Amino acid sequence: MTAHTPVADFAASVEARPTVAGPALRRESVAVDVGGVMVGGGAPIVVQSMTNTDTADIEATVRQVAALARAGSEIVRITVDRPEAAAAVPVIRDRLARMGLPVPLVGDFHYVGHKLLADYPACAEALAKYRINPGNVGFREKRDRQFGAIVELAAKLDKAVRIGVNWGSLDQELLTLLMDENAASPTPLPAPAMLREAIVRSAILSAQRAEEIGLPASRIILSAKVSQVQELIAVYRELARRGPYALHLGLTEAGMGSKGIVASSAALGVLLQEGIGDTIRISLTPEPNGDRTLEVKVAQELLQTMGFRAFVPVVSACPGCGRTTSTVFQELAKEIEAHLTERMPVWRETYPGVETMKVAVMGCIVNGPGESKHADIGISLPGTGETPTAPVFIDGAKAATLRGPTIAAEFKAMVETYVERRFGAARPS
Ligand code: SF4
Repeated sequence: MTAHTPVADFAASVEARPTVAGPALRRESVAVDVGGVMVGGGAPIVVQSMTNTDTADIEATVRQVAALARAGSEIVRITVDRPEAAAAVPVIRDRLARMGLPVPLVGDFHYVGHKLLADYPACAEALAKYRINPGNVGFREKRDRQFGAIVELAAKLDKAVRIGVNWGSLDQELLTLLMDENAASPTPLPAPAMLREAIVRSAILSAQRAEEIGLPASRIILSAKVSQVQELIAVYRELARRGPYALHLGLTEAGMGSKGIVASSAALGVLLQEGIGDTIRISLTPEPNGDRTLEVKVAQELLQTMGFRAFVPVVSACPGCGRTTSTVFQELAKEIEAHLTERMPVWRETYPGVETMKVAVMGCIVNGPGESKHADIGISLPGTGETPTAPVFIDGAKAATLRGPTIAAEFKAMVETYVERRFGAARPS
């Protein structure tokens, strides 16, 4: 008989915990080609974003799509809400191609998508994917007809379709039907579970309907966005269980600033860890005139910190404390991070794999040398009362000691040399 000791109980509780997927284990989904970018089927998790410009304003939209693409958005969604926007789409696509930015564009359609796609064939052709919301595609008998028209066109032109359910615009007829069924059930579901069921069922039924019309599963991506973290996790677990479709993750109306970042990261982090999610978008409300590309940066950082993908070298910096009375190490950490970001466009072309590099900038002797040894290259600055020297560690061994006002410049030069030596061998010929 196993003895019940605190240690044995703890060990048993650890063993009893469910196995989590992590980066190595992903849910199997059907792969979808979105304008040359693979989504699902084991492909790397794709980063997406969406413009907030009026698509009919070609200049502004090209500028913002270009900024998002340069920041690393691999697919960009644009609003197509009226004839002027539909007419602008092929012009935007061509301008971006001439700029060397052939990022796949997704058209976001509501209510009149079937008409715009039929009336503007160049728009239908220029888009890599059509995003439709089953709750906003039309009403009553028109709904099936208009949904069918978009799906048929996508099948004909070999375009992908994202069926994107949103709880703010849920198919009211389906919801009413399910509520009636639920009320008549001897074991009715509570209201939140009922709502989740309606969201999941709307997505799955719409995907099945699209397949019946002739769009294969390899052209269908599903999303079901809600604004509550726990609800989102529950909905996507169910979506992942009920169908093979590739899934687009996103917490809708996540909010501004740190609140939006935390809420999105919490929800998406749990799902990604369980192997759920083939493409992600972080829906942040930008500050007035704020930088739209922040949502791309956050998505990349989420994937990188969880170990799914690498985009830029990571800088580990300590938070600082009473042992650092100056801001030297904060400034150095910022300077190094800015340097890495600035150098990445060149390094990416010249030094394959450089995005996996780990750099440490630490504030004192307590954790500085240890953390620096764990990084590929790290520097430990002197804390209050310490000898004013900064040891640099490379691949776990002390390589140099820097001192004086040129520490930052010398450390950056050492990073450059390290990148050349470590990643230069893989340089494309
Ligand atoms: S490494 Fe030093 S300065 Fe940084 S948080 Fe730890 S004790 Fe404070």
